[in-house]
Amino acid sequence: MSLKERIKHVEERIEAACERSGRKREEVHVVAVTKYVSTEATREVLAEGIEHIGENRPQIAIPKWEALGGQGTWHFIGHLQSKKVKDVIGKFQYIHSLDRLSLALELEKRAAALGTNVTAFLQVNVSGEESKQGITPDTAADFLRETAELKHIHIVGLMTMAPIEDDPGRTRPVFRRLRELRDQLNALSITAEPLTELSMGMSGDFEVAIEEGATWVRLGTLLVGKGELT
Ligand SMILES: *Cc1c(COP(=O)(O)O)cnc(C)c1O
Repeated sequence: MSLKERIKHVEERIEAACERSGRKREEVHVVAVTKYVSTEATREVLAEGIEHIGENRPQIAIPKWEALGGQGTWHFIGHLQSKKVKDVIGKFQYIHSLDRLSLALELEKRAAALGTNVTAFLQVNVSGEESKQGITPDTAADFLRETAELKHIHIVGLMTMAPIEDDPGRTRPVFRRLRELRDQLNALSITAEPLTELSMGMSGDFEVAIEEGATWVRLGTLLVGKGELT
């Protein structure tokens, strides 16, 4: 499939998932995850009018960002080491993987120094798998209280990764739990503004995630492909 065909195919599936769940198409944003492909392939993605680019490794993403002149809006979606924060701040507007207080403090420090802001999702390990990053659901409220005063980080919602399942329906409880957690946190009015966003759903499970309220889906394999675009 060409990139154009992939985009069309994904778009049809997103529209169908929105329709099934009575949601508006505009509520769902797509991050094209380009971590498997070259700078040239990433350039093609941008040229197709895709705005949001997702990457998970600074050492690969930053040379790409530079080669592409920072076109588009960049989302950091992987585990972020504190020592790498200085490299990603000012380039990545969104961090989907805020998973510890020390990272929040480092982001705040570096963003303040640069006079910029960063938009973040609190990563939650809903499934409890040991291999997954993220805070536990029961510590989310405290995390928000402890970061509420940080002026350069704007936490807009929650992010999770579901276990890889052969049957995408089995991921549904994980996505539903993230939405319920967001609503519970909003009921506590900890953040100045309510958390509106849910970053959840990848190539294998984005339709279920949309049905459960995803506002950002992160699509690599299905949308961009793995290896070079053909
Ligand atoms: C790689 C990655 C994705 C995209 O995965 P695909 O299954 O290829 O769509 C989404 N989110 C995160 C955090 C990732 O690391």
